Amino acid sequence: MNLSDINELKKLLDTSGFSFKKSLGQNFIIDGSVCPKMAELSCDENTGVIEIGPGVGVLTRELAKRAKRVVAIEIDERLKPILSKTLEDFNNIEVVFGDVMKLDLKKMIAEKFTDCKKVCVCANLPYYITSPIIMMLLESKLNIDSITAMVQAEAAERLCAKVGSRQAGAVTVAVDYYSSANILFDVKRECFLPSPKVDSAVIKLEIRQNPPINVNDEKTFFKVVKACFAQRRKTLLNTVSNTLSIDKDVLRKILEEIDLEPTVRGEQLNITQLALLSDKIYTSTFKPQPA
Ligand code: SAM
Repeated sequence: MNLSDINELKKLLDTSGFSFKKSLGQNFIIDGSVCPKMAELSCDENTGVIEIGPGVGVLTRELAKRAKRVVAIEIDERLKPILSKTLEDFNNIEVVFGDVMKLDLKKMIAEKFTDCKKVCVCANLPYYITSPIIMMLLESKLNIDSITAMVQAEAAERLCAKVGSRQAGAVTVAVDYYSSANILFDVKRECFLPSPKVDSAVIKLEIRQNPPINVNDEKTFFKVVKACFAQRRKTLLNTVSNTLSIDKDVLRKILEEIDLEPTVRGEQLNITQLALLSDKIYTSTFKPQPA
């Protein structure tokens, strides 16, 4: 069965009475070159792969040809009969039906990939929930090597931007903290059924063993980062003091101590400066003081 052939795919969907649900970000790949390339760049014969959202299984099959084992997590149970047909030739695929945001992925990795040397995530992500899924995967500190994901082109630019550049946002800093991120290749909107309104790109996040900077308190670091990007047009002094309820004079002094002008904007800081700022804020205002 050639799932990249639009006519074969339409026939399969029609005979199963399947209709696309926009609310689940269901845009299936119909270009024959995309999935082999994605699979090739994400795994090898020693890898266990978690796929999020297999759809009809077009990427799942390419992953299973190259990886040791694939566990595919799909929220839409209507795809059950289709997947049991399209994946029937493979004995190294398991489909788990559920919401990836609610499953215990740590447990899944520990239980299902005992015979794999490494584990990675590969997915054509549902666009309505791209950043939350990526943040959940990173923040859960899963035992994975990399995340290869198809996302909207604009999201790819943001996720892989250089911290300190105009394209960067709070999510860029988080991605950079946990991983080294790159755009692998672009994918045109015509490569999907139904065709979305925007183009896409495949990105790869290689998970870091250690973060690029050390901070006194991770929670404070991410709070400060969020505050820095909360109101992009305002100065860092205004947005951080408003968002975190820090006295402006205290914050002005902190900025002076780390050689930053009070007129600087959050998006202009590199990750080392963000770490310094967070540490200073932590020790001067957040850290519990000894009684
Ligand atoms: N992998 C297929 C492909 O490339 O053609 C389908 C990709 S489609 C963009 C996204 C898939 O994710 C859909 O099958 C959708 O049902 C599924 N999905 C959406 N939200 C999900 C969630 N929270 N957990 C697991 N799967 C989800």
